[in-house]
Amino acid sequence: MNRINYPDRVKLASMPTPIVRLNHWSRELGVDLYVKHDDRTGSDLSGNKVRKLEFHFAEAQARGCDVVVTCGGVQSNHARATAIAARQLGLDAVLILRSRTTPPGGEPVDGNLFLDRLVGARVVWVTPDEYRSREAVYERLDAELRLAGRTPYLMPEGGSDEVGAWGYIAAVEEIAAQESEMGVRFDAIVHAVGSGGTTAGLVLGTKLAGVGAEVRGFAVCDDTAYFVSRVMSIVERTVDRYQLRIPFSSNELRIDDRYKGVGYALSRPEEISLIKSAARTDGIILDPVYTGKAFFGMVDLIRADRLSFGRRVLFVHTGGIFGLLAATSDVVPSLA
Ligand SMILES: *Cc1c(COP(=O)(O)O)cnc(C)c1O
Repeated sequence: MNRINYPDRVKLASMPTPIVRLNHWSRELGVDLYVKHDDRTGSDLSGNKVRKLEFHFAEAQARGCDVVVTCGGVQSNHARATAIAARQLGLDAVLILRSRTTPPGGEPVDGNLFLDRLVGARVVWVTPDEYRSREAVYERLDAELRLAGRTPYLMPEGGSDEVGAWGYIAAVEEIAAQESEMGVRFDAIVHAVGSGGTTAGLVLGTKLAGVGAEVRGFAVCDDTAYFVSRVMSIVERTVDRYQLRIPFSSNELRIDDRYKGVGYALSRPEEISLIKSAARTDGIILDPVYTGKAFFGMVDLIRADRLSFGRRVLFVHTGGIFGLLAATSDVVPSLA
């Protein structure tokens, strides 16, 4: 295995995150099921976005930026992690948040949004339509900030681009070291797919770190064709910019879109029921938007065909605790 040449990074995440065997679910499903606890990359900075942000903020600092601009849904984990990390590094954050209320911004100030507000991030509310053409909003803010003498760093949704991809390239190298320590080889690495950056990093990482596991993603919105093209474009830009010599074709991507349910951030009763069951058996706290759906899809496929992911399966818990805490009213009725 060759040494991987990483771009600059700042330290934000607590790493390595533990890998733990889920005893109840392993017995239940008849496979060895492990969880990679990226929900423990920190407390305020918990989740998968922190890994990407280590590389983004290094780039922002190298370019002399003093404010970061990013976007997401009203309960975006990425926006919250960006807002907090910005403060910790002495920068300001501007968050373009997609709201479903009229006028936009009527949602309760809880969960991630509460933390965005607590650290004093500037929030720019947009409608779902404006969000779809958010390049215009980025351009407007970029011009406005420059006029005010600021130097903005523009980061895409989820931090998912050729810079953010390094977060999960590094995570795979971390997993490879843990495989050696544990004397285990994983057959599959399972995760939720929201903006594609985690998937892009994972697939590049397995190639660069010589990890044999197959990367299996579950889309939480949109569909397989959309994500294959999105992930491929991140992979290609990463390969180009950093001159990685790795062959990769879109046929190698496995992204399942059958478990997004009724839509982004909307839960079905069976998903809520699985979140409850995971909490009450192995004490795993999943979130309704991402990890709950991916875990549901994984369990469903293993039940239908026990070895559909191989014998040893690693589920990457990508976080989302604050989103769960903002959605308790969906769960509370089932807690009796
Ligand atoms: C953003 C997010 C994901 C999806 O990661 P992407 O890199 O955006 O695909 C999964 N889980 C949680 C909890 C997230 O916040």
